[in-house]
Amino acid sequence: MAIEDTLGRPLEELRLSVTDRCNFRCRYCMPREMFGPGFRFLPRGEILSFEEITRLTKLFTALGVRRLHLTGGEPLLRHELPVLISQLAAIPEIENIALTTNGSLLTPTAARTLHEAGLHRITVSLDALDPQIAGRMADTTVDPAQILAAIDDAAPGLGPVKINMVVRRGLNDREVVPMARRFRHSGHILRLIEYMDVGTGNGWDRTELVSAEEVRRRIEALWPLEPVAPNRSSETARRYRYRDGAGEIGFIASVTQPFCGSCTRVRLTAEGRLYTCLFAEGGLDLRAPSRSGMDDTGILQLLRERWMRRTNHYSELRGSIPTPAGKVEMFRVGG
Ligand code: SAM
Ligand code: SF4
Ligand code: SF4
Repeated sequence: MAIEDTLGRPLEELRLSVTDRCNFRCRYCMPREMFGPGFRFLPRGEILSFEEITRLTKLFTALGVRRLHLTGGEPLLRHELPVLISQLAAIPEIENIALTTNGSLLTPTAARTLHEAGLHRITVSLDALDPQIAGRMADTTVDPAQILAAIDDAAPGLGPVKINMVVRRGLNDREVVPMARRFRHSGHILRLIEYMDVGTGNGWDRTELVSAEEVRRRIEALWPLEPVAPNRSSETARRYRYRDGAGEIGFIASVTQPFCGSCTRVRLTAEGRLYTCLFAEGGLDLRAPSRSGMDDTGILQLLRERWMRRTNHYSELRGSIPTPAGKVEMFRVGG
């Protein structure tokens, strides 16, 4: 039975964070000063097992979820991830499973195994072609050339591959045009994302935001664009295509043109906390009831109540309300 929240939004997509660990330390997500060697990540026993994730996902489908998105932390660090994907793919109601990764562990074999397990689509994050700029953004020494090769290797089974690029003024915005050029005619879809005030550690400063509109104008000045109809009303990216036939590109204007009105996503962290917004402060613990033997009817009732009481629309309120102090970290909730 489909359900709606207080703003009339149905529940359609579940984003599953499968680990809070990551091998990158992107400055905008997981700054090393806060999440360095002394930081305590979740111990194994606190992380939901594949069986627990699959059980909860099945219950979500009873409330309308048809699309899954695997994320993290870095999801490819989760041991035996293809086993989880095959369990999720076996749920009859699930129509689409996607995954977002930093691409560093995406070998051709990994891509093939993920596809064979039932993964439909992949998004790879990459903020620059220039190794020094990419390295500064993600605080890593992994060469963008390696990520570009992984994107090409993944395309046959998991394409068209989407590439997520977060744009920060003065840091990587001069890479916008080179990235657009690189992905024209590639069959992949570059998506330029506005830098967001997620979590508590990135010291977000609005002056570093480059609006999606400004980014689009910079690209349009070289290669004219025309809008493409959205695939779904809940799609976050505004889609465009190059008029000269070079392919598609997207813009995610989370800050300047918020899309809360069509936000039909719910997020489950690796330890089993449910969040109804990226900027929420408290999650609903589903691990404790699940491990203490609550039956499906009981858990379903918790999920239903949580969604039906949902009021979140932070991005429409940004600036007019105080910033929530204890916002969940992006690497926990998965983006
Ligand atoms: N580790 C994987 C990756 O980076 O693709 C998956 C998890 S990551 C949290 C998911 C997405 O969130 C990435 O595309 C990343 O660029 C984006 N992201 C993280 N922090 C962000 C921020 N402050 N503003 C905008 N996007 C952000
Ligand atoms: Fe890791 Fe992804 Fe966060 Fe970067 S954005 S630190 S790759 S979880
Ligand atoms: Fe959805 Fe919250 Fe983002 Fe609005 S701010 S689009 S409700 S996650």
